[in-house]
Amino acid sequence: MTAQKKVLVTGGAGYIGSHTCQALARAGYLPVVYDSLVYGHDWAVQWGPLERGDIRDSARLDEVMRLYEPCAVVHFAAFAYVGESVHDPSKYYLNNVAGSLSLIDAAQRNGIANFIFSSTCATYGTPERLPITEDSPQNPINPYGASKLMVERMLEDFAAAYGSRFIALRYFNAAGCDADGRIGEDHDPETHLIPLVLDAASGRRPDVTVFGLDYDTRDGTCIRDYVHVCDLASAHVLALGALLSGQPSAKLNLGLGYGFSVLDVINSVERVTGLKVPVVHGARRAGDPAALVSDPTRAMAALGWKPAFTDLDRIVETAWAWHQKHRPVR
Ligand code: NAD
Ligand code: UDP
Repeated sequence: MTAQKKVLVTGGAGYIGSHTCQALARAGYLPVVYDSLVYGHDWAVQWGPLERGDIRDSARLDEVMRLYEPCAVVHFAAFAYVGESVHDPSKYYLNNVAGSLSLIDAAQRNGIANFIFSSTCATYGTPERLPITEDSPQNPINPYGASKLMVERMLEDFAAAYGSRFIALRYFNAAGCDADGRIGEDHDPETHLIPLVLDAASGRRPDVTVFGLDYDTRDGTCIRDYVHVCDLASAHVLALGALLSGQPSAKLNLGLGYGFSVLDVINSVERVTGLKVPVVHGARRAGDPAALVSDPTRAMAALGWKPAFTDLDRIVETAWAWHQKHRPVR
């Protein structure tokens, strides 16, 4: 019998990290969560041990890496509020860049040669054309996107220097929740569109503000590519398998390849919940590109990835199921 492979999952107590731990466990790995719980939740760690620690703490990283001897690091831990990154860039460069450097260094020191990184469509900035391929220029327009691009560059440099390999997964908009409702999206503060529209439908908030109706899009509102969190999770399992079987480093988009407008999302929530969403028309949010839509064909070819959730209503249904259980009206 072969020993169960251990995977160190930083940020595994968060939204996408916890869904990925579930998928890793289903695939036979033991996810070891390394999380400071600055934003995550201990109840979301259900498939392996929780080691509390900060990615900037090298001694603690060494201790945990020596204890478990993981075959790979899957790195979600980061701050991810775009607006906050504009007003407090230091917080983002310290956590996302210095923290990631500390982690990549520790992995190298402890002989862990496989690394999967949560990157983002925010590394592209405002795209010149759609859909966005991996070869599109990366010109981030906020410190959050810049911090993620710097980590991609660090991973490339470490791979060249030490022969390690990495896969950077550039997610578009993560959405939805685990279908059986064990874990879900629970950010505080919440800034993402789908949970906010659900809050407005259920009366947890009085309304939702549409940030801009004057974009050059089919209905004037921003278009995003919403990809289900369980499909993101399955891509991580495939990426891990690819690295462990010797495939080369890669940078891959994860999205559906088509987008939905803010009004599409509101209409979908009304269909799924049967409730009216009170809507307020607001100004554009600074730093929002009109449309971000992926070309995911490279991830599909390299990993054999195929998203299971391709319909917005099905994605919203899973978010609504979680919402009803865990985000009741106050
Ligand atoms: P999240 O806030 O739910 O999870 C992040 C986790 O990292 C939290 O549990 C937090 O406690 C932990 N963490 C943060 N800093 C830490 C540190 N210094 N040391 C240890 N733990 C730390 O966020 P999420 O939405 O699950 O996003 C996960 C990753 O995916 C992030 O790297 C984010 O940038 C990236 N991403 C998210 C989206 C999205 O739509 N949610 C899109 C693109 C990329
Ligand atoms: N959005 C909105 N009202 C809100 C929150 C978001 O109109 O209260 C819009 C936002 O401008 C963007 C889209 O919804 O076009 C998705 O935003 P979110 O913050 O969920 O993700 P982002 O695309 O910023 O990563």
